[in-house]
Amino acid sequence: MPVSISYDQNSRLEISGIECDCPCDHSLPSQDIYVGTGLLPKIPDYIKKRDLGKHCVLVADNITYEIAGRAVEDSLLQAGFHVIPCVIHREQPMDPDERACGEVLLSIQPETEFLISVGSGSITDTTRVNAMRTKLPFVCVGTAASMDGYTSIVAPLLLRGVKIHRAAVCPEIIVCDIDILRTAPLDMVQSGVGDVLGKYIAKADWMIGNIINDEPYCPVCGEIVTDAVNKLVDNVDEISEITEKGIRILIEALLLAGATIMIIGNTRAVASVEHNIAHYWEMMQLLHGNHPPAHGASVGVATLLAWPLFTRFAQEDLTRLDMAKIRERRISREERVKWMLHAFGEEAGKAIMHDNQGDFLTWEEQKRRILRAQERFVEIKKVIDDLPDLARILEAMKALGASETTKELGVDENLLNLSMHCAKDYRTRYTLFKLIDECGLLQDYLEDYPLVERPY
Ligand SMILES: [Zn+2]
Ligand SMILES: [Zn+2]
Repeated sequence: MPVSISYDQNSRLEISGIECDCPCDHSLPSQDIYVGTGLLPKIPDYIKKRDLGKHCVLVADNITYEIAGRAVEDSLLQAGFHVIPCVIHREQPMDPDERACGEVLLSIQPETEFLISVGSGSITDTTRVNAMRTKLPFVCVGTAASMDGYTSIVAPLLLRGVKIHRAAVCPEIIVCDIDILRTAPLDMVQSGVGDVLGKYIAKADWMIGNIINDEPYCPVCGEIVTDAVNKLVDNVDEISEITEKGIRILIEALLLAGATIMIIGNTRAVASVEHNIAHYWEMMQLLHGNHPPAHGASVGVATLLAWPLFTRFAQEDLTRLDMAKIRERRISREERVKWMLHAFGEEAGKAIMHDNQGDFLTWEEQKRRILRAQERFVEIKKVIDDLPDLARILEAMKALGASETTKELGVDENLLNLSMHCAKDYRTRYTLFKLIDECGLLQDYLEDYPLVERPY
């Protein structure tokens, strides 16, 4: 592979020697990412190495404080740091909401020089947005291999019960101690695996975007992600037994997927239609006052749902397309607005349309894409044929006891059906779902997901 991934003697992940002539700008991650065992006592040294200062606020919840937070605090105190603990106490799993963000903000003092989060998704995101607002650097100590967001620069948060995304910062130091990660409950491990499995779909969609729209595709990032997912699928037994080797493979897959975001500056390699579907379930569950399913668990199930559309499309005969008919059946701009408001609700629907202005295509553009797909169908087919067998993915999820159906996630049939139809509309990012729709085939492909009502 034209990139080298290794660890130095201090368990610091080193990504170097990227050789790629794709049009993307590549930058090497500047963060210090440590993966290994017995790392907690070394955290003071990691911090000193980057000269982050002596005064910090340590953010944890009542669970992660017991798992690792207290130990991190002790090692910092022993090394002469001044630590203000901000332990967020909740009866239920903590939400990254305004209350949690406020607790962190009010713990920060004028002398605070950096923040340190001890937790997984919610704790990291709560700290991340505060780091952005206060312009303080932050250190992240992971407690579960449950999602790929440690390296993210966006914080998904809750404001008045509604999901929002805020610009935030990536931690300067990420510490993933395998001994700590192994204490996380199995459902968090299953969630991490689900998030990783989705990368197969994300990569395929990215390559299809390259074929249809000449979107820049980075083969090195594509390969980093594929190698990581393949390794995960090959070692699913180790993961389900939560062995040191298994959890290391899982966290590496999550961190390397995250590293591609830093290398090319966008999330193309890690999120596509499977994330659109998962986000939609989460958004709608929250809207109805329900606690949404774990992110990675949703991504895993959405991956299983999207996959058959890929394999079916690989068998498609695009010469049968009737251009006149496709044109005639196109929905108008007004009908699309109605559909978007129906599917996403007034507020989110308007926001999505505003953010994705180019999503209503002219007929000329739609026709160009169809012709491109016909012309280069062999390449599209190869992208799909290169995916592993869906049976293999299913087997992996079974071995883990991960959720395989929307029912297990508390997503009802109506929500499921709607999500499959509006997955293509969540953002401009190109997906096979979009191509199938542009070819006038989506209704046919989604006949197992009937809509109760159509707004037009
Ligand atoms: Zn994800
Ligand atoms: Zn590249």
